[in-house]
Amino acid sequence: VWGQACAALETSVGPNNFNHWIKPLRLTNLESGIAHFASPTRFISDWVNRHFAKDIMGELSRHGQPVERLRFDVVPQAAPGRARPAVPAKPQRPVASAAAPATARAARPDMGAPLDPRYTFSNFVVGKPNELAHAAARRVAEGGPVGFNPLFLYGGVGLGKTHLMHAIAHDYQVNHPAAQVLYLSAEQFMYRFVQALRESSIMDFKSMFRNVNMLMVDDVQFIAGKDSTQEEFFHTFNALVDQGKQIVISADRAPAEIKGLEERIKSRLSCGLIVDLHPTTYELRLGILQSKTVGFRAQQPDLEIGTGVLEFLAHRITTNVRVLEGALQRLFAHASLLRREITLEVAQECLADILRTNDRKISIDDIQRKVAEHYNIRLADMVGPKRARNVARPRQIAMYLSKQLTSRSLPEIGRRFGGRDHTTIMHGIRKIEELLADDKTIAEDVAMLKRLLEA
Ligand code: ADP
Ligand code: MG
Repeated sequence: VWGQACAALETSVGPNNFNHWIKPLRLTNLESGIAHFASPTRFISDWVNRHFAKDIMGELSRHGQPVERLRFDVVPQAAPGRARPAVPAKPQRPVASAAAPATARAARPDMGAPLDPRYTFSNFVVGKPNELAHAAARRVAEGGPVGFNPLFLYGGVGLGKTHLMHAIAHDYQVNHPAAQVLYLSAEQFMYRFVQALRESSIMDFKSMFRNVNMLMVDDVQFIAGKDSTQEEFFHTFNALVDQGKQIVISADRAPAEIKGLEERIKSRLSCGLIVDLHPTTYELRLGILQSKTVGFRAQQPDLEIGTGVLEFLAHRITTNVRVLEGALQRLFAHASLLRREITLEVAQECLADILRTNDRKISIDDIQRKVAEHYNIRLADMVGPKRARNVARPRQIAMYLSKQLTSRSLPEIGRRFGGRDHTTIMHGIRKIEELLADDKTIAEDVAMLKRLLEA
């Protein structure tokens, strides 16, 4: 039957679609109106489920096997023939974020955002700055009884929050094929909500969100200050937690630091596990570059990349992993067009603009301003003579950050802090170093300020 159906499908969906998506499937079982398929990747089964489920059910039914649902098991193939390239192009069309039975999927609006098939755990490079977030994400993806609810991931731009969330969704779906996983950004949540209000379909909206097994909302800081959206989010959140459903949230900062977010939401968000992704270290950046290089070399094996190029990039591009990836991608594209080895000179020349913006130095002014703002003291007190603890401590933190984040010498820093002596600066820095070791609040404050300044 499958053979006959395939022949018909090849005509109805076209040979290209057929060869790419349907041919890799293997019909493993067909009874009680459910067709089971083995698919080499989740990507393929999601795609087929979204785009060709109706065609497949139609053809099977036409050939004497009435089918109401499709089920997919991901069975990786031994033969490397169809293996996905290590760095595949971005999918041109959205991928289903849940492998729900085709009928159920067709019956409800698609609320979720597409998942990027490249954002998996296996593509995520783990290092000191992200090991905790990675471990927590793995745990939640298992969906076992000892989880955290909600899991709240936060950190600066381009540090891998979205990547980890997609990885959780992929893995959770593999571990729980029948589960509904809904991933979307807070902005999309708001958009859907407003749309539902406008179309008077708020009941559908509510039941849709309350019926998922896992809800993932990315960049939740977006709903700060948006009152009715916050309200709805709060109710959705509570309803799901009450039913024991998993929630995963990301934001660019900790719940307590999100201005314009209601207190009750902050406290709700804080009752699971909060983990942050720290700014990358040199080692992590190098690891990421090495892992991406393996992908590029797999596609262009004849391209040579000089020793020291990756180290150079890891040193010089420190802000955002996305920029780092972009730089590497550009290098490979450049080298493959010009058929040249990627030497240090080629890298410097081809990435001049990126390297220049990354050299934008953090200034002592920036540091003083951010720290003053954070502790709610006057900027003038940064350079003024006051010795009260509530002013002196933030000033010392600013001194410490000035030493850490700029290349200024102690006397230079002293001059910028109202003409203080370099020994005063050194004393201030030592004090903060001591506190960092055993005062958790200060350690967190400093980490956050650093992140804000480096973003
Ligand atoms: P965020 O959501 O925190 O702004 P993303 O998850 O979008 O950041 O990550 C930005 C880019 O950097 C993505 O392409 C992602 O795959 C990549 N990236 C970030 N961290 C890592 C990592 N540890 N290993 C591999 N790739 C990473
Ligand atoms: Mg993101």
